[in-house]
Amino acid sequence: MKYYSTNKKAPLASLHEAVVKGLASDRGLYMPQKIKALPKEFFDHIQDLTFQEIAYRVADAFFGEDVEASSLKQIVYDTLSFDCPVVKITDNIYTLELFHGPTLAFKDVGARFMARLLEYFIRQEGKEQVNVLVATSGDTGSAVANGFLGVEGIHVYVLYPKGKVSKIQESQFTTLGKNITAIEVDGVFDDCQALVKNAFMDEELNNHMKLTSANSINVARFLPQAFYYFNAYARMKQLGKAENMVMCVPSGNFGNITAGLFGHQMGLPIKRFIAANNANDIFYKYLQSGKYEPKASLQTIANAMDVGNPSNFARIYDLYGGRHDLITKDISGATYTDKEIREAIASCYQATGYILDPHGACGYRALKEGLKEGETGVFCETAHPAKFKETVESIIGNEVKIPARLAAFMAGKKQSIELKNDFSEFKALLLGE
Ligand SMILES: *Cc1c(COP(=O)(O)O)cnc(C)c1O
Repeated sequence: MKYYSTNKKAPLASLHEAVVKGLASDRGLYMPQKIKALPKEFFDHIQDLTFQEIAYRVADAFFGEDVEASSLKQIVYDTLSFDCPVVKITDNIYTLELFHGPTLAFKDVGARFMARLLEYFIRQEGKEQVNVLVATSGDTGSAVANGFLGVEGIHVYVLYPKGKVSKIQESQFTTLGKNITAIEVDGVFDDCQALVKNAFMDEELNNHMKLTSANSINVARFLPQAFYYFNAYARMKQLGKAENMVMCVPSGNFGNITAGLFGHQMGLPIKRFIAANNANDIFYKYLQSGKYEPKASLQTIANAMDVGNPSNFARIYDLYGGRHDLITKDISGATYTDKEIREAIASCYQATGYILDPHGACGYRALKEGLKEGETGVFCETAHPAKFKETVESIIGNEVKIPARLAAFMAGKKQSIELKNDFSEFKALLLGE
């Protein structure tokens, strides 16, 4: 299958090209040329299938033309070495827990899939090593580093700003070793990003080594997120709760919800979607006014959603042919201040004992306020509350237990290379000088 750019000026790309390039040459986002509908028989029996079986059917629709069947199956099964279960919170509100992966957030699914797909392409072509460069302000680095950990033929360089990343986050990408190199830059996140951009533009460097990014807009990170929406539906159907199902997604860059919308186009019977925002309300405002007006991002306690110009808006816009009326028919919005997020965490804990993280709290609150008569809501719990331990404990007045796999990171030995904010030094490091 070919991939086109949302800006429509770049040439069509193969899956392999789209994965290696990430962004199209006209700076648009890649979209698959076809979104194949899955047959009715699949949905009729979906409740009898496992998560991995469901995910493979979805993966086959997107990648089956480009990846040999047994390899694709293996990539999917390897990616989903953990579950994404649905858990009941109240009679009509359920949560899809997406934090059971290695770094306790949903980005594990896309990162693990992309790493394995890239490995497949490298093996097939017998190519030299591929180097993934990623700048992170915290969470992306850990998902990418763990996703690619131990994957053959790939080396990952994670650049992060010294002293500006929480200890928990830092431990998740500096303690890994193997094919992961953590680089602690004497600067801020933007400096890290600039170093990575300069590397991609440096001709000498690109002649010497194969460089690629693992940005969240990459099709191989973005599309696999559709898998768990089908699983949510299947598990709700098993419970007899799939009629009038509303899916609510805490959103920042809008990749996660867009993958759900792709699922919807493939026939997944979800009645409607809610995009829950923190105070960064650009999409919410767009739904109200039809005007898309990016802004500088605001800092909030749900910081993985602090995005002032969500990249995947371009994909949603393209998917609906730019029709505001069609977009608002499928998606409604919500926006919450930090105070409202705190209230949601506190009230959910008091009423049900369930501990939300600040991102999932936006989703819970949006369902609490937005569900209509006869609807059942499922919100994505996008991270484990222990990743935001201090914040959450101060709200619920109780301890948040740290899962063993997170504690293991925190007990690991930090291995990182210090780097001045200087491109020639970075280049020398990459070239092994
Ligand atoms: C990345 C992230 C989000 C936002 O997801 P998008 O796909 O960017 O909308 C929400 N919650 C958590 C915990 C995240 O890490």
